[in-house]
Amino acid sequence: MQLNANKKPQGQYGIIGWPLGHSKSPLLHNWGLKESGLPGVYVAWPTEPAKLKAFMAEVRARHIRGVSVTIPHKQAVMPYLDGLTDRAKVIGAVNTLFWREGKLMGDNTDVIGIKKPLLARQEAQGGALKSALVLGAGGAARAACAALKELGVPDVAVTNRTASKAVKLAADFGQRAVPWDERAQGTWSLVANTTPLGMLGEHQNESPWPADGFAGVGLVFDFVYNPVRTRLMAEAQEAGVACLSGLSMFLHQGLAQFELWTGKALDERRARQVLMADLLLMGG
Ligand code: NAP
Repeated sequence: MQLNANKKPQGQYGIIGWPLGHSKSPLLHNWGLKESGLPGVYVAWPTEPAKLKAFMAEVRARHIRGVSVTIPHKQAVMPYLDGLTDRAKVIGAVNTLFWREGKLMGDNTDVIGIKKPLLARQEAQGGALKSALVLGAGGAARAACAALKELGVPDVAVTNRTASKAVKLAADFGQRAVPWDERAQGTWSLVANTTPLGMLGEHQNESPWPADGFAGVGLVFDFVYNPVRTRLMAEAQEAGVACLSGLSMFLHQGLAQFELWTGKALDERRARQVLMADLLLMGG
């Protein structure tokens, strides 16, 4: 592992994960640093699990300003930290490392990434969500359950290919589980996809929802952000159902990270344009 020893330590940021395929975090944060006139650089640190301990030692030794954390390290980094935000404690996973009063802290900004687009839509349309079904029971689903709980959605259910994980996740948040085969049978104000189905690569042409099953669905939130318009979103829109893209989630979790690290709020509209332009260039 090399943490760019030549760069100024006070201005160094980056993302750790393994593998680190198509992350758009370097694009967003390097744009943000430039836009804010701040020195520094945000880089990708592909870090295999066996090297995590050494990586965390370097974060301290070099006082790396900010780290985004992605799969498979979101839980594994926690023992190396001095403290966690309340949200990170509730979710049991972190996606952001930052410094406060000399302490290396962990937060989870995915919840903000999920709440902000839902609140913006709620404000524009009026009317709170009455029910929500979370598809998947991994890390992103955990953040979704926490966000829906914070939003006060009265009826939240989780469904997952592996039923036992849905039951466990739902129980952790006082919510209910629905069998995967029965997922399209209910009526839901919101269906949130937290599975990788629809994502660029092997799952791109797949959807977690039957194309003829949108009658009882009010809104679809697809956490997948590459491509920007997934098969799930295309089929939902075809059926007249409004959609939120994972790009909005990615954008807001990233803006929240940037603010934690620098104290500066980036312009949301311009940041979205930067991401959109890049994703469209890639054919998303
Ligand atoms: P994870 O912890 O690995 O969980 C993946 C979930 O998807 C599991 O519940 C898994 O079910 C399910 N799944 C995987 N393959 C499936 C298939 N072929 N059919 C049905 N279900 C399947 O991953 P994660 O961290 O939650 O991330 C999940 C997705 O969320 C990512 O792929 C990414 O697109 C998206 N995400 C987006 C953002 C954003 O900012 N927009 C942020 C984080 C994540 P089993 O339990 O049965 O294996």
